[in-house]
Formats: sequence, C-alpha cells, structure tokens
Amino acid sequence: MDPNNLKILPRESTPPPPYAESSGIFPASLLYSNDHTTQQQYFTPECIIIEPTLGTKPVHMFCPTCHNYIITETDKSPSNEAYLCCMLIFIVGCTICSCLPFFMKSFQKVDHRCPQCASYLGTYKP
Ligand SMILES: [Zn+2]
Repeated sequence: MDPNNLKILPRESTPPPPYAESSGIFPASLLYSNDHTTQQQYFTPECIIIEPTLGTKPVHMFCPTCHNYIITETDKSPSNEAYLCCMLIFIVGCTICSCLPFFMKSFQKVDHRCPQCASYLGTYKP
C-alpha cells in the first residue's frame, strides 16, 4: 500500500443521526414533531407460542384452554390402521396373526390431554 495514495477526508461538521432515526424504527417526523395533535402509533408486541412436538411420552406444554403450564397425560390406543390391518390379515386367513397389529408400536396412537381441565391437546401417530 502506497502511503502517497492515502487521502485525508474532511471531517463532517454535522453529528450522525440518533440511533432510533438511523435504524428506521421511528420516522424522523414522529421523533421531532412538536405537533401533539398527530395520531400516535402504538406497537403491540406479538406473542409467539411454540408448541412442543408430541410424542409417546408426556410433554411439558402450555395449555391453551386453562392457561396453565402442565405435563400432558397420555393415553395409548390402537389406531385405525391397526383395525384395518387386523381385518386384512383375518381375511387372508391367518386368524392367529390378525391380532398382532394391536401389539405393535407403529400401530399405536397416543392422545395427549391436560390433567387439570381434561381438554384434548393433540394426538401423536408414529
Ligand atoms: Zn388445561
């Protein structure tokens, strides 16, 4: 780098704008307005609730019905696919094997409910 190519720029006489104005959050007309009759803008924060992914075990979550932080109650039961598979195996002729889908984890669905208000929260299907 050649030091002869460096140029010294004149210093600016005006200070930089305030952070709120330069970031674009508030327009300058709102920040420096002396007119109190202008309509004020209110910003309401958004509330984002991330729902947990339901699984085979109870999960911690916020109940949307009773607004409590709870651990869900689970209830395992055979899914509709288990009954369908049972009927297909029975029709094919293997009557003893037709009850196997009721004992397989892949044919079980898990319903999650709130322990306090007993509202339905969701179903997990593998
Ligand atoms: Zn609840």
